[in-house]
Amino acid sequence: MLLLLPSLLLPTAKDEAAFAAARGKMVREQILERGITDSRILNAFRRVPRHLFVAPQYRDQAYGDFPLPIEENQTISQPYIVAIMTSVIAPAYKKKVLEIGTGSGYQAAVLAELVREVYTIEIIPQLAQKSKKLLEGMGYKNIHCRTGNGYLGWPEAAPFDGIIITCAPDHIPPLLLEQLAVGGRMVIPISYSTTVQDLLLVEKLPNGKLKKTNLIPVMFVPMIRAGNAR
Ligand code: SAH
Repeated sequence: MLLLLPSLLLPTAKDEAAFAAARGKMVREQILERGITDSRILNAFRRVPRHLFVAPQYRDQAYGDFPLPIEENQTISQPYIVAIMTSVIAPAYKKKVLEIGTGSGYQAAVLAELVREVYTIEIIPQLAQKSKKLLEGMGYKNIHCRTGNGYLGWPEAAPFDGIIITCAPDHIPPLLLEQLAVGGRMVIPISYSTTVQDLLLVEKLPNGKLKKTNLIPVMFVPMIRAGNAR
């Protein structure tokens, strides 16, 4: 399948074995041993080749316990944070998930291993094009990519069983809440200042009320405001 990616400097088979070993270690030490034990989720992380989502000069660090830079001053999140967000949003029954902030496409690929359809929006066109090409080249047919302002969501595909926001706004975007199904879950970093953010779980209960739970402090890049965002 990797042969479908002619534009990448491809790792050799020997490199691939080393990357697979590093990936196994990442899953064990950074995800399983920190309490995420759902085997479906662990297997999704074992399958997705994270090193293909980072720039070639960072490949050797792709399985480290930290975020890494991608293009346009953006970042691919630390594996454990991707795992927490995934475990909140993607238990077996979740069918359709919206992601805001495609970035490298890594989180979208992990989700695509677990749910039926993934819709993902990226505001920076260069990143959107690059991740779309990569995900298509890897053979994912259940990821729908769009270039645009995620603050507005993807109304034509709503409602979503899960919404995962990987950039930090200072409030919950109201249109995203509208596009969350009853019984659905949203996971969103909310920034209270330039240095303080909380990862929030927002559940839309069967009676339509919202239940908010603080999960952990996090540090995401800010959600970019476009002209018509508010
Ligand atoms: N999920 C990504 C990491 C995302 S970094 C991964 O797995 O690699 C956050 C991304 O959100 C950046 O690429 C940034 O350009 C994007 N972003 C910021 N504001 C946005 C907005 N309003 N709409 C859509 N994407 C946005």
